[in-house]
Amino acid sequence: TSLFTGIEVAAPIEVFHMNKLYLDSTDPNKVNLTIGAYRTEEAKPWVLPVVREAEKKLAADDSQNHEYLPVLGFEPFCKAAVSLVLGADNAAIKEGRAIGVQCLSGTGSLRAAAEFLGRVLNYKTAYMSKPTWGNHNLIFQNGGFTTVSAYRYWDAASRTVDIDGLLADLEAVPLKSVVVLHGCAHNPTGMDPTQAQWKAICEVVKKKQLMTLFDIAYQGFASGDPDQDAWAIRYFVSQGVEMIIAQSFAKNFGLYNERIGNLTIVVNDPSVLAGLQSQMSLIIRANWSNPPSHGAKIVHMVLTDPTMKQDWFDAIKTMSSRIKDMRAKLRAKLEELKTPGNWEHVTKQIGMFSYTGLTPEQVDYLVKKHKVFLLKDGRISVCGLNSKNVDYVAIAIDDAVK
Ligand code: PMP
Repeated sequence: TSLFTGIEVAAPIEVFHMNKLYLDSTDPNKVNLTIGAYRTEEAKPWVLPVVREAEKKLAADDSQNHEYLPVLGFEPFCKAAVSLVLGADNAAIKEGRAIGVQCLSGTGSLRAAAEFLGRVLNYKTAYMSKPTWGNHNLIFQNGGFTTVSAYRYWDAASRTVDIDGLLADLEAVPLKSVVVLHGCAHNPTGMDPTQAQWKAICEVVKKKQLMTLFDIAYQGFASGDPDQDAWAIRYFVSQGVEMIIAQSFAKNFGLYNERIGNLTIVVNDPSVLAGLQSQMSLIIRANWSNPPSHGAKIVHMVLTDPTMKQDWFDAIKTMSSRIKDMRAKLRAKLEELKTPGNWEHVTKQIGMFSYTGLTPEQVDYLVKKHKVFLLKDGRISVCGLNSKNVDYVAIAIDDAVK
């Protein structure tokens, strides 16, 4: 016997499980549409040229060392991250009402936010969009929330945001709830509210005094322009909404494994910030004590050097344009094949993902018969498509649907 006897084997984490099935497959035609990570036309990971340049500069700089960062992170990075999401000229920054806390990528930012809201402000109820990113529920449950529930988001029939359902559900949430909103490029549906819809959502959030947590893991991937992708967040700030924003630099800097993220916190009264920072320090101290430095130094350098920042904008354009191009090619081929159904949504959706509308049975068939790997809910990472495999994928989808 063992002290560890009786541990139940949990279900595998779907996205990593499917990715492993892809890696294990020996089929030469296999296609990986699982993980939300950018791939080049050659199906390779991409180190952004400006990131490589920053790394070389850092490596050549003998004043760099491996000392601990402060608990709340590398402050110049936090400032740059806050400016990126709010816009450098945002009144909240000028008035000293916005601070940044460096965290472990988007996931760590969300986890620190959940623990902070639970332990320090006594929130126990949180609402996520239905559907949402698979990890949201787990983060909030493990972060101490007793009720993790959902608001309507997706209308499968029209393949648009169910704005009436969404607003009705937010109207009905209990007092003292946290609402998690995807800042842009909603995962998994690829459909964001329109500006008019965001305004209506903002109204309810204000009326109900909801604790707003924006999760923005794809700033730049929705429109190709990081400023435009922050529109909803900046609108809410302009309306006086206090909020926490979980930012990830995994996707838009291609720094997936550096775990570089930031929590931006916007308040109405700067006098609350001293307490907030001290309590956040304790949350982080008990989790990872202090964050890693490499990614923070890179992001900081790029965002504060005008030439490098422009190179970064260009890289975002390269990535988002290739994704758009693949959406167009996939849709065109499906239409050429006269695949039953309407495939307009493939190009209407934005960001890394397409919520194809394929059923679990069709997904299973695609995986088993054609070795096209995707998630059970029909989500594909469009980054996995390239001009060599897009026709193959369309023909496979056609076969699965017919
Ligand atoms: N939020 C959403 C909606 C995401 O899709 C992701 C990445 N898949 C994250 C947060 C955070 O990812 P990471 O921890 O790698 O930054």
